[in-house]
Amino acid sequence: MNARPIARVFDFDDTLASSRGFIRVLHCVGGQPANTKKWLGDMGLSGEPGPLGSIELSTEDYAHYAKLIQELLERDEIIVQKPEQKITRFPTDVVDYSGVSRLIDPRPIASTVNIAREAFSRGEILGIITGRSGLGWVYDVTRKKVEVDNRRDIASFMAKQGIALSLEDIHCVGDKPGGVPYNKAEAMRIGFVEKYDPDTIIFYDDDVRNLDAVGSVDRRIRCVDSRGMTEGEDSTQDILEKAKRRRRNISQWSRSLQKAGIY
Ligand SMILES: [Mg+2]
Repeated sequence: MNARPIARVFDFDDTLASSRGFIRVLHCVGGQPANTKKWLGDMGLSGEPGPLGSIELSTEDYAHYAKLIQELLERDEIIVQKPEQKITRFPTDVVDYSGVSRLIDPRPIASTVNIAREAFSRGEILGIITGRSGLGWVYDVTRKKVEVDNRRDIASFMAKQGIALSLEDIHCVGDKPGGVPYNKAEAMRIGFVEKYDPDTIIFYDDDVRNLDAVGSVDRRIRCVDSRGMTEGEDSTQDILEKAKRRRRNISQWSRSLQKAGIY
């Protein structure tokens, strides 16, 4: 019999912790910075001013931005790219992820952290799969290199919660081509299913696209939408039913964002 039959794998942001962090958007027309404040203001979004006229959106507002911009992307009316890419078409939004290169003021989410802590004390296999960057650095909007150390920051945050995690069980998949849901699924397959071969894997995430993708990797995986866990309660079945109903829309959205390089 498997000595460690249960593995629990968690998303990080808004599943185990909430933190401050921002994503900069710089709107360009004809290869030159344009009025980003007005551009985002027309979407009902605002944020702190950043370099070159960029605007710093909260991670929550950025998620809203990504949804709003989808229609423009589908109609080929804009492209979205990273700061190091050369602007070849217009209009272009340059998106700078340097504001999520480290953990800023992380606060634990009690319901999931308690589950992780109890699982740790029982000696279960524990891991994290996050859409944060796993690179050593990224470029910011001014094309300056910014150090990235999400893996170590997450490990030290978890240690403060009384949970010792091996760095190799913290997977940061945000920079890989193919989109976050696909790369989370790959990290699950290689990093947990094949590596540990447990009887059951429980995966917690607040994004239904990730739950869908990771849940399809292996039939031993049970998915839990962490948004439904106010009391540490597991309402998996209800959540999977809801997810099924929303699947069609979400897959379309996910495909167009992948095409645009956002995910
Ligand atoms: Mg999340």
